[in-house]
Amino acid sequence: MIKPLVKGLWITLKYFFSKPITVHYPEEKVGSFPRYRGLHIIGRKPDGSIKCVACGLCEAICPAKAIKIEIGELEDGMRYPKTYILDGWRCIFCGLCQEVCPVNAIVLTPQYENAAYKKEELILDRDTLLKRGDEVKI
Ligand code: SF4
Ligand code: SF4
Repeated sequence: MIKPLVKGLWITLKYFFSKPITVHYPEEKVGSFPRYRGLHIIGRKPDGSIKCVACGLCEAICPAKAIKIEIGELEDGMRYPKTYILDGWRCIFCGLCQEVCPVNAIVLTPQYENAAYKKEELILDRDTLLKRGDEVKI
């Protein structure tokens, strides 16, 4: 009868003096795992222009049909994404778009704080993806 009681008290005492493992999120942040894949960014070239050359490979490979691109052409014949929409609600974070991109334009970030209050907040257009790229550290 007394044995389980002593055992219980011992466990309480043991954890009372050990370092707590609780994290006070969101004040305290925890890092993501090395292979974690969070929401995307689109990168820029050193001159500040968009890296994406609108080849359409990411749109074609995306199994969730989450990417929609409209191709534009510059005067020098270079292609660029006139519109680039990434639907964060459809995305399954497989990472195939990043894998297939020939110019490393689209990158999945370790950013895990992706909650949104409104549906529109996770429909990311070209300029939002570029802005995220300027802000998010990879
Ligand atoms: S991570 Fe996968 S599902 Fe999401 S946009 Fe890229 S290819 Fe599509
Ligand atoms: S993000 Fe990469 S794969 Fe997708 S259209 Fe642009 S260059 Fe091509």
